[in-house]
Amino acid sequence: RFAKESDQLIAIYNERLEEIIRTEADILRRMKEAIGNGTLEVWYQPIMLLEEGRYRAAEALVRLPDGKGGYFSAGQVISLAERNGIVEELGDYVLTKACAFMKEQGDRLGVQRIGINLSVQQLLLDNSAGHLLELIRSTGVDLNRITLEITESILIQSIDRASKTLEKLRQAGAHIALDDFGVGYSSLNYLSNLPVDIIKIDRSLTQQILTQPKQYKLLKTIVDMASINGLVVVAEGVETEAEQKAIAASGLQYIQGYYYARPMSDEKLMQSLQD
Ligand code: C2E
Ligand code: MG
Ligand code: MG
Ligand code: MG
Repeated sequence: RFAKESDQLIAIYNERLEEIIRTEADILRRMKEAIGNGTLEVWYQPIMLLEEGRYRAAEALVRLPDGKGGYFSAGQVISLAERNGIVEELGDYVLTKACAFMKEQGDRLGVQRIGINLSVQQLLLDNSAGHLLELIRSTGVDLNRITLEITESILIQSIDRASKTLEKLRQAGAHIALDDFGVGYSSLNYLSNLPVDIIKIDRSLTQQILTQPKQYKLLKTIVDMASINGLVVVAEGVETEAEQKAIAASGLQYIQGYYYARPMSDEKLMQSLQD
């Protein structure tokens, strides 16, 4: 009887596995196609500069149409691209598109800086700084209007090689943001040594500050440490007015979250920021 049940379980497991493999193959196929024919979308989420009460920055986020009127999750798309060796191609696409958009619309929209996420693979190639700079320059955008976002955990894992690349990008005028800060690895000690200009507080920390006093203290400590080191802080994942108020009181400068605005297509962004 046991043997029979475990056979059934294995059958269910295999079916589920095959389904995952089919879905992933479908996403991958659509991704390659969309990169090739230019239908891969880049959306933008505005970022509020609290002091001015205006959107002064935005983050570019990849959006792959699922063929049913929706989009695959960006996290899944990126992880698949990374595992299948096409994240550099995808990254180049997003970078070029976001820089060109910034060049064309940045001034009109009052957006001073655009954030673009980088995968670690994009940082570890030979001459990756040279390659990224060439792409950015080819769009004609000012480098000081570009922020390159790199996840904290990834930067720490390959700190020696990645730091050299980031330093070159900074020397050319780009800003570097440490993304998803405040989870796992976070060590305040190294903040003064990393080649970064901006810290982005992860949503998981933001969403605990109202319920866990310790987490709010951690946020304040990060903001204070950042300020000592001349870094700017952005809070991600702010969804409610109460969170917004608590965070504003912590002294950090920028807020990104559904409370203000969700990611949107370039057309939507132009509609909502122009009027
Ligand atoms: P991220 O860089 O930390 O980007 C912020 C994510 O938080 C975005 O998810 C955004 O939609 C979401 N978000 C912003 N405000 C809120 C909020 O108030 N509540 C909630 N629940 N979520 C909020 P998205 O677009 O799904 O992207 C997920 C991750 O995928 C990104 O996290 C980034 O790590 C990665 N990613 C997205 N686009 C790219 C890209 O072009 N290249 C690379 N390498 N990674 C990308
Ligand atoms: Mg990011
Ligand atoms: Mg983040
Ligand atoms: Mg992330």
